[in-house]
Amino acid sequence: MLDLRAITAGYTRSTPVVRDVSLSVAPGEAVGLLGPSGCGKSTLARVAALLHRPDAGSVVVDGEPVRRWRHRAPREQRTAFGVVFQQARLSADPRLPLADLIAEPLRATGRRQGSADRVAELAATVGLTGDLLTRRPHEVSDGQLQRACLARALVLRPRWLVCDEMTAMLDASTTAALVRAVEDYRSATGAGLLAVGHDRTLLDRWCDRTVDFTSLSTAVPRKAADR
Ligand code: ADP
Ligand code: ADP
Repeated sequence: MLDLRAITAGYTRSTPVVRDVSLSVAPGEAVGLLGPSGCGKSTLARVAALLHRPDAGSVVVDGEPVRRWRHRAPREQRTAFGVVFQQARLSADPRLPLADLIAEPLRATGRRQGSADRVAELAATVGLTGDLLTRRPHEVSDGQLQRACLARALVLRPRWLVCDEMTAMLDASTTAALVRAVEDYRSATGAGLLAVGHDRTLLDRWCDRTVDFTSLSTAVPRKAADR
């Protein structure tokens, strides 16, 4: 279970962007998170992926509460997560050929053995073929780079996936290919998914259930509280 309990989070303590939000994803479940731009979905997704420390509330991953937060959670807990963001170019080291980009988490966690085979297997899963793996991010399209980012997110075989607007910048056929790759991974491994998006049709098709960000908070809306 991925359990977000009464999470308050943001960038300054005085004005949190996520206020008292609770959300659970069951093992193997796919949950879509929908809401207007700027409402705090990405911030909650980063908390869920253990990349952003909440100001209040707790994150419990497979029964283990995250206790030793710095700005992020300890790496041992983070490696249970694969994360894909909307802006592939911001999270991709421009110097690394796609093959190295995909292998980066293996290198970072000291698991180089069998790395080339794993990269080749994942490249096939996400549909990266030919010489694309030797090219650097600026030499490939947004869609090709996002395929590599998804492969990187899967390389450590995470039990949980967090996809934040993964396909928002992509055409229909690349979107379909990436959603299919996530589905194949999930049916092979039983991994759970939190998918953030703004397209209800896509999320409904992709996920077991779709929740509205604005329905998750039990906090009194600030305007009402101010009155
Ligand atoms: P969404 O994903 O729903 O569009 P975000 O979580 O990205 O929403 O943003 C929620 C609010 O937090 C917005 O007002 C945004 O400007 C602000 N915000 C997001 N990231 C940062 C940041 N790194 N520093 C300061 N404010 C931020
Ligand atoms: P740091 O050394 O800064 O703690 P990390 O341990 O978070 O870095 O990760 C090292 C590299 O591995 C990062 O640059 C990141 O690109 C990649 N990485 C780590 N965890 C993930 C993940 N869950 N999904 C995708 N890439 C990851």
